[in-house]
Amino acid sequence: MSISAIATQLKPCPIYIDGRARMSRGDVLIQHNPATGEPVAEIPICTHDEVAAAIASAQAAFPAWSTTPVLNRCRVLFHFHQLMEKHADELIALVTEENGKVREEARGSFQRGLECVEFACGVSSLMMGETVEHVGADVDGWSTRLPLGVCVGITPFNFPLMVPLWMFPVAIACGNTFVLKPSERVPRSSVRLLELVYEAGLPAGVMNLVHGTKPVVDQLLTDPRVKAVSFVGSSGVARYIYATAAANGKRAQALGGAKNHSVVMPDADMKHSATTIMSSSFGCAGERCVATSVVVAVGEAADPLLAALKKAADEMKVGDGADRSSVMGPIINSEAKKRILNYIDVGEQEGAKLARDGRKDPCCDNDGYFVGPTIFDNVKPSMRIAREEIFGPVLSVVRARDLQEAVDVVNASEYGNASSIFTKSGHTAREFSAKVQTGMVGINVGVPAPVAIFPFTGWKGSFFGDLHALGKDGVKFYTETRVVTCRW
Ligand code: NAD
Repeated sequence: MSISAIATQLKPCPIYIDGRARMSRGDVLIQHNPATGEPVAEIPICTHDEVAAAIASAQAAFPAWSTTPVLNRCRVLFHFHQLMEKHADELIALVTEENGKVREEARGSFQRGLECVEFACGVSSLMMGETVEHVGADVDGWSTRLPLGVCVGITPFNFPLMVPLWMFPVAIACGNTFVLKPSERVPRSSVRLLELVYEAGLPAGVMNLVHGTKPVVDQLLTDPRVKAVSFVGSSGVARYIYATAAANGKRAQALGGAKNHSVVMPDADMKHSATTIMSSSFGCAGERCVATSVVVAVGEAADPLLAALKKAADEMKVGDGADRSSVMGPIINSEAKKRILNYIDVGEQEGAKLARDGRKDPCCDNDGYFVGPTIFDNVKPSMRIAREEIFGPVLSVVRARDLQEAVDVVNASEYGNASSIFTKSGHTAREFSAKVQTGMVGINVGVPAPVAIFPFTGWKGSFFGDLHALGKDGVKFYTETRVVTCRW
């Protein structure tokens, strides 16, 4: 097929300013379907003027939206929720097309996103202030929570629907207006969310959408009209976002990368542990910030666990996420595939034992970007494959003598997103969750991502900021507190 014939078939990717979709005048990137490698869409890089117009649109919408009764704001989100449910299959298919996730994983991420909208629908009671009468003679005191103004969200490629939904529903329910800059690798899911939220009755300008890479992000971080920045992505960029936003007088929450451990005790139910860890490590092709990428097998747990993991990996069907028989889909693009294959070489050079080599799986020869499930045994905690975020289907097994040694392995990580323990002992589980330095802990759970009523609490190199996304933290992040002291 000629280049021009392909170009005419590429799907467009509009921006949103003043409540209207329009085409950007900027340069374009080509988006490829990760399962086939085929070009599917043209992704624009917004111009400076377009980004400025999106911020201006959000700023112009703020006075009316911030004084719209909170129940009316939430009512728009109830309609948005209904529309998301009505269009569920289409949204889920779009996530698979953009990101590669298999349908069931895309459905799971859709459901988790929907839960964020449900949480935001109830924001009115979380915005309540506090009152104390008689704080002085004839004096009362009370506090209120007020929206900030224009808020910005910058999101990663691995959850095209869910991560934007961690941010904007809570932000706009609190009375803010918003500019979203989704990952340039998966922006069309966000376009669809904007279409639906406007169909739900959102007033023009409350949500705006721009596309692009670092220069667009830098403009958002330095524009004085922007009051707050929410970011989810890799740790190096998260650190930069936090520092730059703070230097420009904005509040920021920047969620970064991860290296998560699952500790398996000898008394654990091995079958349950292996199945759960498989799905945590290789689900979403390992491209999940709460994926287990290191198993710490304690004592005699190691051999039966490794055998069960290898067996389960051998049985996994890897293929196009749109094919309902696939259990694991592709990774996002050719650069990611190159990086992951390089890490497998590094692991071999470092002397780890390659217990299962996903490079030899037939899927690796498919069009698209596939790497089969890969397992290293006898990994030392000092090795790069045990310390660095690979963000792909590569699992390292570290052997430890006892619980304390396992906890030391977890706590030596520069990251602190999530960790899990598999055990039948309540005492061991309690000791683990008390000692481990991660913000999210799973007990016999492989993906300890909290539901939306709780915050998403990464620590150490996995988070820069103080108020996390979602839960009461999310409401505090998107509001300012005012205290009134009144003598009447
Ligand atoms: P990324 O850091 O490459 O990109 C994230 C966003 O930042 C994108 O919108 C991108 O356009 C922008 N960006 C990239 N480089 C930039 C730069 N130099 N300056 C300014 N902006 C820049 O991340 P990714 O590859 O899209 O996503 C994967 C990463 O996200 C992994 O590290 C994963 O662990 C992390 N992640 C973390 C969480 C969490 O909750 N902590 C959740 C999901 C993903």
